[in-house]
Amino acid sequence: MESLRRVLPELHEIHFTGGEPTHNPELAAITAGLTALGLEVKTTTNGQFTPEDLERLMSAGLRSFNFSIHSLDPHSFLETQTGRGMAREMHEPELHAWAAEEMHGSKLRWAERQVERELAMIREAHRMGASVKLNTVVSGERNLSDTRKIFEWSKAEGVPLRLLNDLGAGMESVLAIRQFIRSLEAQEVLRQVTIGSSACSTVYRLPGGYELVFKQIRDFKLESMCRNCPRAADGTCQEQYYGIRLQKKRDGQFHVNLCLQESGPQSDMTLEQFLRSPQLREIQSYLI
Ligand code: SF4
Repeated sequence: MESLRRVLPELHEIHFTGGEPTHNPELAAITAGLTALGLEVKTTTNGQFTPEDLERLMSAGLRSFNFSIHSLDPHSFLETQTGRGMAREMHEPELHAWAAEEMHGSKLRWAERQVERELAMIREAHRMGASVKLNTVVSGERNLSDTRKIFEWSKAEGVPLRLLNDLGAGMESVLAIRQFIRSLEAQEVLRQVTIGSSACSTVYRLPGGYELVFKQIRDFKLESMCRNCPRAADGTCQEQYYGIRLQKKRDGQFHVNLCLQESGPQSDMTLEQFLRSPQLREIQSYLI
């Protein structure tokens, strides 16, 4: 991390994501190390942890939680989890629990408990003064009744909600989100763009003052990475260049991944290679 900070002094935030970060037993220790360097630490989570875990993480300096939630309804929750390859995302204890419950025809109870636990952890984190947001992906019109229930719950709890378009669903997803926002008679109050990233968002305010955010992707590519990528030409590039993803691989080395869709020497490299790469120089040029 220190080598990254030397070349990117503007680096001020680390966001844990991918898989389920709270399953990492080292998360509190890693957080404490990062906060000691003066970095702000955030995580995306499915909220499947305990109040004790939450307290430990917050004491270590993890004070910002983006809770991903697919549905409040156990039936829909189950469908989305199965469709998204739930088994792949689960760790071993959960897999055993899942297999055991499946045998007893208890999938639905499993889904109910997942939803209940996540909502309880959102309330608890909010009560403890953490920065809490709910993220929900809207794939299309078919999701809008789930989206509405999540919206009503978030509004009642006073927790900010962010609607994310489904990168794989293209305009169907974007149009469904716009349709939903129109139905709320919300007013656009702010557009935000992250410099040097494809991240952007629009903030909408409802008549009662509650605000919700539509988080989107804009067309922003790294010339040094995307120059020869066929997806740049055929329109199938989904996320563009979003940010630096650092991952510790099984070989013990840190790797930098700059693109979710294409894995090659231009987008996937060891940290040492990244520190000497034209991609880093280009990223630095946007931050000056
Ligand atoms: S898929 Fe990745 S490498 Fe290809 S254009 Fe998009 S961001 Fe660039």
